[in-house]
Amino acid sequence: MSSKKTYEEVAEESTAEEDLVGIAKEVIRRTYGDTAGKLIEYLLENGYIAEEKIVNNVEIRSNEARKILQKLSDEAIVTPDKIREGSEILHVWRLNKPALRTFIMNRLKKTREKLEALLKYEAEGTIYECKTCKRRFLVDEAYANGFQCPYDRDILVEVNNPAASSSINELIKKIDSIILKIERL
Ligand SMILES: [Zn+2]
Repeated sequence: MSSKKTYEEVAEESTAEEDLVGIAKEVIRRTYGDTAGKLIEYLLENGYIAEEKIVNNVEIRSNEARKILQKLSDEAIVTPDKIREGSEILHVWRLNKPALRTFIMNRLKKTREKLEALLKYEAEGTIYECKTCKRRFLVDEAYANGFQCPYDRDILVEVNNPAASSSINELIKKIDSIILKIERL
């Protein structure tokens, strides 16, 4: 049961922002950290970032930025390129929006799958509760204890948790609407 909160938190945080730039930033930030969120924000605004100008543009230490760009590059979210600026050749990383979109979609779908699995568990797995100490037990644990609490011998009663299920359903709906929005881009 301890994993339940995590899934809900993940979903809540990944759906906190309604606009797509916000969603992209949030997904990247959650995956690669705050600095990566800052970097992707710049890339979404400007389309590319030059290695030679990272410190000036985003105030991130260039070796830290390079590590993040390498990770984004592994996902094809950025691709290396060169541009000429006056007499200078700049080494740039270009934002690959379709790859970013795919990345976000995959993350959202994974979260959705986890939520679906959780719903199924809630629907199928009957949970027993001790009215005295409020400890919860799965059916096989309850059976093994003769449907008595091993701590205080009170009788274990079946409980279901409709509130939890409906909040999971809400999150799934939210994720679906974001997925739909992204698919229409
Ligand atoms: Zn008890």
